[in-house]
Amino acid sequence: MIPGQFSYHRPATVADAVKLLSSLGDDARPLAGGHSLVPMMKLRLATPEHLIDLHGIDGLKGIRRDGANIVIGAMTTQHELLASAEIGQSLPILHETALLIADPQVRYRGTLGGNVANGDPGNDMPALMITLGASYRLEGPTGGRDIAAAEFYQGAYFTALEPGELLTAMSIPVPPAGHGYAYEKLKRKVGDYATAAAAVVLTKAGGKVSTCSIGLTNLSETPLLAEGAARAVIGTSLDDASLKKAAAAASAIMSPAADARGPVEYRKHVGGIMVMRALQRAFSTSS
Ligand SMILES: Cc1cc2nc3c(=O)[nH]c(=O)nc-3n(C[C@H](O)[C@H](O)[C@H](O)COP(=O)(O)OP(=O)(O)OC[C@H]3O[C@@H](n4cnc5c(N)ncnc54)[C@H](O)[C@@H]3O)c2cc1C
Repeated sequence: MIPGQFSYHRPATVADAVKLLSSLGDDARPLAGGHSLVPMMKLRLATPEHLIDLHGIDGLKGIRRDGANIVIGAMTTQHELLASAEIGQSLPILHETALLIADPQVRYRGTLGGNVANGDPGNDMPALMITLGASYRLEGPTGGRDIAAAEFYQGAYFTALEPGELLTAMSIPVPPAGHGYAYEKLKRKVGDYATAAAAVVLTKAGGKVSTCSIGLTNLSETPLLAEGAARAVIGTSLDDASLKKAAAAASAIMSPAADARGPVEYRKHVGGIMVMRALQRAFSTSS
């Protein structure tokens, strides 16, 4: 339960953090809220020799509107998302999802950037980011680049971050007014990671689904965009048959691990149920 020894660095700018990450190489890790990294260090599943604490970098915090997008600094905490009127109004599904993460103590420290950069299939925000069509801003030794959240996740704890790169912000397109949304998460107890979860954002026209996006959490090594499931409900009034088709299409792309949260077939089954529940609630809340 005691982490290995490490050197502590506290840069004041993104440029300094990138310089440190580049020069220290694989032995260095950024430290955000520490609520995934430090437990891993205590279990000796992570043994970085250098921690680059991001808390001294002012520019990494905050929530701002940029045209049709909301831009959120990587060091913005989950608690700050919950406290933001802008998020409550423009991205209510982000508010709903943040509230389903752990408990207030974790949310006071845990950041959105740490949650999405971590690469843990159990984290809730990555599937939501791909559902919303978000992109991530990365700064590295040779400059900055933007990458779609859907292209960021490559395997469990394996992302598109290149050596020396830091995630600095997430940019999220604001869904149209009146959109329906839901994040349905099955967990074993309050504060737990998902056994299975589904995010849905949709719009309706003439009583039928006109656009739909569905993301899945902890049902594969990476978050999944369930495009076939979304196609199954577009143009329908979400009758039983189309709901079942969507669940089947989503289950077909799931490949969850068999672990303490249940065997593979169980997790795929409840994954399908989360998809149906999220679709129904999103449909009923959209105007
Ligand atoms: C009891 C408990 C229950 C939890 N339950 C849930 C849950 O239900 N759902 C859920 O989603 N999460 C859960 N978490 C995890 C929590 O949300 C973490 O806070 C989050 O996963 C990581 O955010 P962090 O800011 O703490 O990042 P850290 O732990 O500091 O970092 C996580 C990883 O991301 C890297 N990193 C961090 N910031 C950056 C950056 N800006 N650029 C590049 N790399 C970066 C770090 O180097 C590290 O590898 C739980 C945690 C605990 C302790």
